[in-house]
Amino acid sequence: MPVTYLFPTSNASKELSDPDYDLLSSMIDSMDEDVDSWCTSSIACCDNCFDEYSRKWPLAYTRAHGIRYQNTPARLFYASAGRVQGTVTESEFLRLLPYIACPNCGGSLGPNLFAFELPFDPADFEADLERLAELAKTAPFLVLSDEFARRIRDEITAFCLVTEQALPTGEFFRGRDVDASSAASSDFGAPPASKTKEGRYNHAGSPVLYLADTYETCWEECRRPSDPFSIGILEFTKPVKILDLSEPDEMKGVLAPVMYSNLTAAPSEGGGWDRPEYVLTRFVADCARLAGMDGIRYRSTRTGKGTNTMLLKGEAAMDYIRVVRVEKPVAPSRA
Ligand SMILES: [Zn+2]
Repeated sequence: MPVTYLFPTSNASKELSDPDYDLLSSMIDSMDEDVDSWCTSSIACCDNCFDEYSRKWPLAYTRAHGIRYQNTPARLFYASAGRVQGTVTESEFLRLLPYIACPNCGGSLGPNLFAFELPFDPADFEADLERLAELAKTAPFLVLSDEFARRIRDEITAFCLVTEQALPTGEFFRGRDVDASSAASSDFGAPPASKTKEGRYNHAGSPVLYLADTYETCWEECRRPSDPFSIGILEFTKPVKILDLSEPDEMKGVLAPVMYSNLTAAPSEGGGWDRPEYVLTRFVADCARLAGMDGIRYRSTRTGKGTNTMLLKGEAAMDYIRVVRVEKPVAPSRA
């Protein structure tokens, strides 16, 4: 579905003369055609609503692929819009642009149009996701009373059933606040239960092991740490069953919108005991645990590109991974 079907703002007919309003209508038709010829994105936001939309769908713009994300300033738009150029002059375009409504919020479009795509129709899921987010905040133990949460559990369980045991290849990275010169392999196991705080995929007092897929992901997940800090590089020694939620584009049903949404992909707000942003991910972890999984792979909310692998069995996970070496990290250069 194209992004288009732009329409005039509510004040356009009152504030514009009849000839200008007619010109605006022709300009909108031309814009529709030009945008259609460039992209098939179904979502467009303006400067006023882009941040709020991104909070609702955090992965929508952090994804490096699968999302066509364009930010098109007005003059650049005009310069490349052949049909619009045939309809209005540049000065007419800039004068009438504020009378075109943003397809998302209905406000005046302004200088930027952000067009992007999600692999599902967000409108189909927004009410369910908002209701579940509210329940997770007010009565987290009762999320399973919600019909949408039961659909999530059913789909996770079905996904687990078709997940086969495999040996994860390559290196995995785990950061700890110990000096690299004195760090031992045992420093990179799961923390003791008494020191385990609530995490994205674990309950308080229930140790799990979080591993990053790259050095940079580990660095970002550890909030760009200062000294003392070291990174353990680990590898798997035995096959495991990992529920892979890191590619939401390939998922069907409710899992794609759930993994894209702020129910699971909102960055942590930092300290404090109230962490509603972790309720649904911990619910997902419980579903995976009961379905016999060893862990979950998911996309990092810090980098949007990297992935993390969480091993559910805490200290027992050391039976199937080992520390290869320990490094003292330097801050990764950021492009
Ligand atoms: Zn808007």
